[in-house]
Amino acid sequence: MSTTAPALFSMPVPRGPARPVKPKTVLSYGLGADSTAILLMFLEDPVRYGLEPDLSDLIVVHAVTGNEWPTSLSYVDRLVLPLLAERRVRVVQVARMGRDSDGVLVLEDSRATRLIHQAGPWRLSDWLLTGGTVPQMASGRRTCSIRFKGWVLDHWAVAEFGQVPFRRVIGYHAGERSRMEKDTKIQNRLNERAGRVICEPSYPLIEAGMDREAVEAYVLARLGEPIQKSYCTFCPFSGVCASRDRHEERLRAHPDLAAEALAMEYASMALNEPMSLYGTRSLYQQLTEDERNEAVLTAFEERLDAVPFSLYEVRRLYLPGRTKDCRLHHGDRCARPRWWCRTERTAHCRREHTAFETGGGGTRTELPTACAGVEDDCQGKPVKGQAWRSVRTVWEGPRLEAEFTLMRWGREEGVPMRRGERSMIKRLHYLDRGEGYPAAEAYLVAAPSGADDKHRDSFERRWTEFTGLIGTRWEPVRPLVCHPRTRGSRVVPVIRPSGIAHVPALAESAAA
Ligand code: SF4
Ligand SMILES: [Zn+2]
Ligand SMILES: [Zn+2]
Ligand SMILES: [Zn+2]
Repeated sequence: MSTTAPALFSMPVPRGPARPVKPKTVLSYGLGADSTAILLMFLEDPVRYGLEPDLSDLIVVHAVTGNEWPTSLSYVDRLVLPLLAERRVRVVQVARMGRDSDGVLVLEDSRATRLIHQAGPWRLSDWLLTGGTVPQMASGRRTCSIRFKGWVLDHWAVAEFGQVPFRRVIGYHAGERSRMEKDTKIQNRLNERAGRVICEPSYPLIEAGMDREAVEAYVLARLGEPIQKSYCTFCPFSGVCASRDRHEERLRAHPDLAAEALAMEYASMALNEPMSLYGTRSLYQQLTEDERNEAVLTAFEERLDAVPFSLYEVRRLYLPGRTKDCRLHHGDRCARPRWWCRTERTAHCRREHTAFETGGGGTRTELPTACAGVEDDCQGKPVKGQAWRSVRTVWEGPRLEAEFTLMRWGREEGVPMRRGERSMIKRLHYLDRGEGYPAAEAYLVAAPSGADDKHRDSFERRWTEFTGLIGTRWEPVRPLVCHPRTRGSRVVPVIRPSGIAHVPALAESAAA
């Protein structure tokens, strides 16, 4: 149990004590070779790494994603946790409760930890399946890792430490200097923004000059069993995920988990053809290339046959993007980029449709364009903007019946059926995407149930505006649930054995 009092963030911070308090050390434990090696180094010689001899100032924190390989969990349970419990090292396990406003749950906070929790109340796969998607990158960062690791760890740290600085140990090895530099930069920015030192990052493996091989050898020598990579069973990112050979070997050893990953990819591609696990390739395609994977693919087919299916009506709007022109004419916000938002004005348009205002000293200022853009000569190339998606469930039942219903509805309404180029998934396309922006498309597709019905509040309005169509073509089986976006967005509850702390919502997360 934690011995620390709940740090309510709103409470005034007591004045600093007369002598400086040594900051606590937090190791975010990802269960892999790198952080395991650091733990073993700490246990072997705490003082050398600036820790108390009894390790009382070390906190090992693990963010539970819910989708870790069972073999990685068991490795740590069998070989690492007993060593930590023997020395009474504090181990904290945290997980997401649900959406941001639901907060962070401390699953366990103990000095005698026996097991790593397999899952919290909301797993990474729950988030991906309800979103009908697979792990993705946004602005060069992995959103899954930010949401299920970085975000959780950062909010726990605020609840734990409040304004007190701590030392954050990160397991980058000697081959990951660029990641270290990026991480330090982010932390410096966060410290700067907060106007104080939130934490000092520390990278013991880089300091020790240990690369991946050295780390694995070190762990093997101490624990007597080779350590495998630790990552989510469906992780698509090279560098995080094991090599293709090792990954597929693991999938073959766990056909159930392989089937789960394949079903996630199937649902994602059904709702968005390009959204396979590996950019231009799918996990499915990859597995079909090796006949040893036959049992895995059979398990996947059996899974599809066993799970409930839905017919989803998917509508997508491809909106025009903003350009320099748009910003010039419409400032910071432009809800309706029009043709002259999305193009450089043509020479013709500038000549024919420019208005000036003559000021006092004879200065001429160009007025916002008055051109309506109806002439072809005025319009240039449109720019890609956001894509909005609406997903509505219009039928539910077993897989076979879903496929039949899809065919029957297509026949009855004269809607053509096409297969996805890569996925080969059948879809009834009742609105095909046109050229340029804005554009719209709509289809009906069968996929495993589980994806949430959702779209933006203004989707229907803009859908009608662009397509002239009203609502979905088929009747949704349930009304759309609206999740108010603002609720609790400023504070995040951190639910701990010692009580609930409400900490400010942090925008950016260092641990990605
Ligand atoms: S292991 Fe892969 S899928 Fe899991 S959180 Fe990390 S990056 Fe995302
Ligand atoms: Zn505009
Ligand atoms: Zn014009
Ligand atoms: Zn809504």
